[in-house]
Amino acid sequence: MNAQAGKSKASVIIIGGGIQGCSTAYQLAKRGIDVLVLEKDRVARHASGVNAGGVRLLGRDIAEVPLSNVSMQRWQTLDDELDADTGFRRRSLINIAADEADIQTLQKRQDVMHQQCYFHETMIDQQELRERLPHVADYCVGGVVSETDGYAIPYKSTFAFRQAAARLGANFVEGQQVQQLRRVGNSWLVETVAGRYEAEYLVNCAGAWADQVAVMMGDNCPMTYSAPMLMITTRMPHFATPVVGAVSRPLSFKQFENGTVLIGGGAKGFADRANNKTRLDYAKLAAGASNAVDFFPIMRTATVNRMWAGLEAYMPDNLPVISASVNSPNAFHAFGFSAHGFQLGPVVGEVMADLITRTHSDFDLSAFRVDRFERKVL
Ligand SMILES: Cc1cc2nc3c(=O)[nH]c(=O)nc-3n(C[C@H](O)[C@H](O)[C@H](O)COP(=O)(O)OP(=O)(O)OC[C@H]3O[C@@H](n4cnc5c(N)ncnc54)[C@H](O)[C@@H]3O)c2cc1C
Repeated sequence: MNAQAGKSKASVIIIGGGIQGCSTAYQLAKRGIDVLVLEKDRVARHASGVNAGGVRLLGRDIAEVPLSNVSMQRWQTLDDELDADTGFRRRSLINIAADEADIQTLQKRQDVMHQQCYFHETMIDQQELRERLPHVADYCVGGVVSETDGYAIPYKSTFAFRQAAARLGANFVEGQQVQQLRRVGNSWLVETVAGRYEAEYLVNCAGAWADQVAVMMGDNCPMTYSAPMLMITTRMPHFATPVVGAVSRPLSFKQFENGTVLIGGGAKGFADRANNKTRLDYAKLAAGASNAVDFFPIMRTATVNRMWAGLEAYMPDNLPVISASVNSPNAFHAFGFSAHGFQLGPVVGEVMADLITRTHSDFDLSAFRVDRFERKVL
């Protein structure tokens, strides 16, 4: 019996209090399910609290588009749904084409998207790019835009799900690292550093540690982890309303309403997940900053105020695992979001709740199976 929580049994135990765990807890609690979230540190302590907040449908892998599309619809009204401030702002997202080769890449992508009847990505020419981003460098030749995209504040969004779930009766217990999972009869016995819990169903939302939890459920998968980095400037005069990325170069940035500019782009630092630590790679951050200046000369005057990294789970194909366990009954996975899982948060909770309460999802989840790599080898 756990001393801290005061409650050791639930219908569903979710391992991990990031956005996927909190969103799943919310959706289950909304359906009247008794749910308990066990978090080894603090809710939103890792990727879900420190990411770039990009809410991006643009440039998604085709397999993810149906999920991302629905999630994007949810983001538009999420503050009302959760009765909270997630900081969501709808802004167009533009990926800039630096040269003709980028335009050709975009054209090919557009053809594929249209064949699949996806029309949310619109190519823009140089003149329109300049109208939308007056400070873009002269050499940029065009780009692609998705109008419904935007950004939100990560820790606020994750907490919004947590609080909405808690209002509906979900329990959250922090400081509970799950160390062992066992089947006892028709139940799961969950042992943490501080107590024992029991549930009918388990959901693995353990982020950069999810491969370890998957193994406890009998599932092996080739997940890796890394430490993507971000930096933020001091306030600058307003110069960019859309969120900005680049077609073929590692650039991503957004200017917030207070004038600060958040710069990302996927550069990775050093990850030490056993100790919850990351270390920055300053050479890569400097390269990212000069990339931003190259696209937006006005950034030359920017002062970087703060830099950080978060621990994130990656899959070899950069697609998440959203799947039932293949080796254990009543066990499910949602992990491996490969640096773009924040946007998917709202829909992932719905899918996981469907898998548990309806035994299936209306989405085709075959691309996200936990055993997809084993199946390929066979
Ligand atoms: C720097 C950075 C920038 C990013 N930018 C974006 C972006 O702009 N847009 C976007 O869509 N995505 C972005 N991402 C990715 C996004 O943040 C993640 O995909 C998403 O937050 C993953 O959520 P999660 O709930 O799966 O994982 P996490 O937030 O990592 O939560 C998992 C939780 O599980 C807990 N846990 C692990 N093991 C155990 C255990 N054994 N017992 C109990 N608890 C456990 C951990 O402590 C952790 O709190 C970014 C990520 C980073 C790091």
